[in-house]
Amino acid sequence: MNLTYTTVRSAKRKKLTITVERDSSILVLAPESATDEAIDRVVQSKRQWLFEKLQNAPKYQGTHAPGKEVVSGESALYLGREYRITLTDAPDARVVFDRAFVIPKGDRLQTRQAFRDWYQAQAQEVILPRVQRLSLELGVDLAEAVIVDDRLRWGSCTAKNNVRLNWRLIKAPMSVIDYVIVHELAHLIEGNHTPAFWNIVRAKVPGAEKSKAWLKEHGQILEEEI
Ligand SMILES: [Zn+2]
Repeated sequence: MNLTYTTVRSAKRKKLTITVERDSSILVLAPESATDEAIDRVVQSKRQWLFEKLQNAPKYQGTHAPGKEVVSGESALYLGREYRITLTDAPDARVVFDRAFVIPKGDRLQTRQAFRDWYQAQAQEVILPRVQRLSLELGVDLAEAVIVDDRLRWGSCTAKNNVRLNWRLIKAPMSVIDYVIVHELAHLIEGNHTPAFWNIVRAKVPGAEKSKAWLKEHGQILEEEI
C-alpha cells in the first residue's frame, strides 16, 4: 500500500512530527531544512505505525457535531450517566450539580462556557488524582499529568513521560476513565500496542474491552463543544 501525505515546513519547527488527521490524511510537520528524501525516509520508517493508526481511525463524517444545547429539559453526561439540565435566573450563579445540572441563564455562549468550565474543573478534580494513584500502583515513572482540550484523542503521552487526558473524559464512566489512564500510563513502560502492552492494561483494567467499545460508540463526544 502506498502512503500519501502532506508536508508542511516551518522555520520554527525543530523536529519532524507525523500525525494522522481525523479525515485519515497524513500530515507531516517538518523543519524548513528537511529535504523531501529525508522526510520520506522518516515516513517510510513509520509505515507500520501509520497503517495501524489508519486502520484504527474512527470513521468521521467530517461535519462538526454541535454538541448539547444547554436548555431546560435537555440532559448532559457526567461520569457515564445522563443528568437533567435546569436553567436558573439567579444572578451570577455558577453551574451547580446535585443529581441534576442547574445552570445560570445567559446568552448561548455564556451558558455553554459556564458548562464547559464546570466540566473542565471537574476533570481536574476527579481525573488527575486518579492518574497519580494508578501511576503509583503500576509503578511507572510519570512526570506530569495534565487535562487538555483535544478534538482528536482521549489521551496521549509524551516522550518526557507526561500524560495528557482530554477533559471530555469526565463524561465517561469511571471504568472508562481508568482504562484511558492505564492505557497512557502503560505506554510509559511499552511504547507500542504489543501483546506485552495489552497484558499490562488488561491486568490492571479487566473491563478494558468494554471500555474500548464505549469510547468507540461515544467517539463523537470528542467533536462536541461541550
Ligand atoms: Zn496507545
